[in-house]
Amino acid sequence: MTKYISFLLILFYQSAFSQSNIQPVPLKDVKTQKGFWHDRLQTASNVTIPHVLQQCAQSGRFDNFAIAGGLQKGKFKGALFDDSDVFKAVEGAAYTLQNHYNPKLDKYLDSLITLFAAAQEPDGYLYTIRTINKDTTGSYNWNAGPYRYSFENGSHELYNVGHLYEAAIAHYEATGKRSLLDVAIKNADHLVRTFGPNPGQLVLVPGHEEVEIALIRLYRTTGKKEYFDLARFFIDMRGRSDKRPLFLDGHKLGPSYFQDQIPVVRQKEAVGHAVRAQYLYSAIADMLIVQDDEHYSKAIHHIWDDATLKKQYVTGGVGAREDGEAFDSAYVLPNNNAYAETCAAVANLLWNHKMYLYTGDAKYMDVFERVLYNGFLGGMSVKGNEFFYVNPMASNGANDFGKGSGAIRHDWFGTACCPTNVSRFLPSMPAYIYAIRDNELIVNLFAESQTSVKLKDTVVKLHQETNYPWDGNIKLTVSPEKAHNFPISIRIPGWAQGKAIPGDLYTYSDKVPVRLDVKINGKKVETNTQNGYLKLTKTWKKGDEISITMDMPVRKVVADANIKSNTGKIAIERGPVLYCAEGKDNQGKTNSIKIAAEQSFKPQFRPELLGGINTLTSENNKITLIPYYAWANRGANEMTVWFDAK
Ligand SMILES: [Zn+2]
Repeated sequence: MTKYISFLLILFYQSAFSQSNIQPVPLKDVKTQKGFWHDRLQTASNVTIPHVLQQCAQSGRFDNFAIAGGLQKGKFKGALFDDSDVFKAVEGAAYTLQNHYNPKLDKYLDSLITLFAAAQEPDGYLYTIRTINKDTTGSYNWNAGPYRYSFENGSHELYNVGHLYEAAIAHYEATGKRSLLDVAIKNADHLVRTFGPNPGQLVLVPGHEEVEIALIRLYRTTGKKEYFDLARFFIDMRGRSDKRPLFLDGHKLGPSYFQDQIPVVRQKEAVGHAVRAQYLYSAIADMLIVQDDEHYSKAIHHIWDDATLKKQYVTGGVGAREDGEAFDSAYVLPNNNAYAETCAAVANLLWNHKMYLYTGDAKYMDVFERVLYNGFLGGMSVKGNEFFYVNPMASNGANDFGKGSGAIRHDWFGTACCPTNVSRFLPSMPAYIYAIRDNELIVNLFAESQTSVKLKDTVVKLHQETNYPWDGNIKLTVSPEKAHNFPISIRIPGWAQGKAIPGDLYTYSDKVPVRLDVKINGKKVETNTQNGYLKLTKTWKKGDEISITMDMPVRKVVADANIKSNTGKIAIERGPVLYCAEGKDNQGKTNSIKIAAEQSFKPQFRPELLGGINTLTSENNKITLIPYYAWANRGANEMTVWFDAK
């Protein structure tokens, strides 16, 4: 009997979580002309990318490659993970080339790639600190280790090259040039020879995950299965390989810091360093898309439930604890000393998108959207050249939260992972809007854009017009090559269905009804959703119009009673956007603001303010709220997300 039940359970898992066969519509095929995301893509290409490239140059990060390559004399400058910032800056630059070709930037990237190729050792190894310093010795602290891969937990050797591969693929896709791809392949072939189960090969796992994601991506680009197999080897060996402790500022970090405490298939909780963890989880989801496996599937769903239903801020930020930049225990989500690293928000985006591609369930895109508009976007200034490393939920306008950030943004950090992660993710945003599955066209995000997609039987042009996230009106104009019957699936966000987030960690406390109207060529249609999607199947012909109207009321959000820091508190949202109060708009004081359950707010679009935002003003005009992402653009200020309920 027990055997029979477990057989059924396995069947359930396989049918519920089997490969969805969804393909994202690539960045190159999605164009923006105006709107919220177009403005931000412009900021990325005009400000953020030039800024991070310049910071990399000024800080000596490019010189390290030139010195390692023998093109320049000098000493290694900076930290052993700095190569990764350079690769991330190049990856972001390559995405902006895909959005809008710029011959000057293309040429500049060519000059950088010459440095990378020069710094690569003859067998493919690429790690400027060791090539310059030769074999260094030292304690097991943040150290390159006495010889190659002798101290992977601290060296970031594999982490850095993971970012190299991602940059190389983005550059190849942007330009068709193999220059950087060849550097990446030469390094990946070196890894394939070096690591594995065969005699003479090293059995260890990356101290900072990332190369797993990159190897699977490189497998997709080149078709070389050994890259996928190596990614799987690194995932399989977690919790099984030799461990060396890592010391950070004198204290020992245990194996759970690296998600190396037990084999992944037995892991059930999101633990340890939040960026490392979510890069691993992203890689597992991606691995499952290629090669489904019930044990890993079960593990990743358990871990996702733990991270999303118990350990996530209302911004979608994760990694509450500063000590170890780590996930804390369930429901421990302090407000004013929240860590919520910007990189952890990026990693959360990547993970949820992979989970979506694996399962086809819109709940992952709901989390993605929450992170996108709040936890992620809050990591960058409106102008695009200042950043947060940590993203608190409250500020007294003075605390620096231990990273020189939190109260005010900075143009760069000694450890510059966050600015470069913003610069690589932001310009890739259009790649997350659309997807296809055989003959099905899927709209996952609302953003003014155009795309042309090749379905199994036809080519379809789609034009999306919207003022989202400021209102919930979307018009889609569908133009297939010739009249053809196929489904169009449109994700109806959780917020438009009365659900703040999958699960119950955050819920709307008010009972405002949500209205959803959908019309095809002016005629109302049924709005039943399945798995979060409204599926419209018919014979589509050129110029057919779908109009979607989602009411976007101001909502009051309460947290699960287990989150002690939010007891008796309310947060305010409208659509996908979380709001906060900043001192600047509220006579300098926000921490004492109280909000009554019946208090109503009026949205008003203010084009001149903070790049153009909807503010929310309470009817007695005493409280003005701005989108959380737009705080800390007007100097140090008090800021509050969670208000005491009156
Ligand atoms: Zn970071």
